[in-house]
Amino acid sequence: MKLILLGPPGAGKGTQAKRLEDKYGFVQLSTGDMLRAAVAAGTEVGKIAETIMARGELVPNEVVVGIISDRIEQPDVSRGYILDGFPRNVAQAEALDQMLAGKGMELDAVVELGVDDGILLQRIEGRAAETAGGPRADDNAEALAKRLKVYHEQTAPLIAYYKSRGKLKTVDGMKEMDEVTRQIEAALGLLKKKGSWLSRLTGK
Ligand code: AMP
Repeated sequence: MKLILLGPPGAGKGTQAKRLEDKYGFVQLSTGDMLRAAVAAGTEVGKIAETIMARGELVPNEVVVGIISDRIEQPDVSRGYILDGFPRNVAQAEALDQMLAGKGMELDAVVELGVDDGILLQRIEGRAAETAGGPRADDNAEALAKRLKVYHEQTAPLIAYYKSRGKLKTVDGMKEMDEVTRQIEAALGLLKKKGSWLSRLTGK
């Protein structure tokens, strides 16, 4: 299954992607994680990305499109993958469509984690306080506010983009983590139906 998890910073995309990876073997592909690894390794990409990321802005489209294009060719993602943090704007979404069409592939679904802005701000300010001086250079209040602004301006238009293509599924990202996972699984048709022969057999 090929999925996109869409939602603002602090919506829980990373947590949910990890859970789906553990349970179903779809590989979490986080452009943020890949860029942080590139920064840590001091690669060319890392040098380009470092200051941009620290400011909470988007790194150039061609950089992330190139990373994802290479990554989805790797054999370990043959069972599927979850794009977490990509695409971040319409140009990246169009590049992804072209990339997939060129490989004869198609996205299965885009799952939007819907969250309330006010609560999100509280969450991310809490995260900034908790992780002050921590490993992420962009987890300070200023960069987080910038990331949220960039989300609204550049990433939120993807909701309409995927809706018009019949791909969008929205779940309530404000619920408890387990409930959000359950809603995602239900939206993707991954839950076993009660009363199925398998559930009668296993009692689950
Ligand atoms: P994340 O871990 O997804 O919150 O990403 C952290 C930072 O990495 C973002 O604030 C951007 O600077 C950069 N980044 C991650 N993914 C992308 C992307 N698809 N396009 C541009 N910049 C990205």
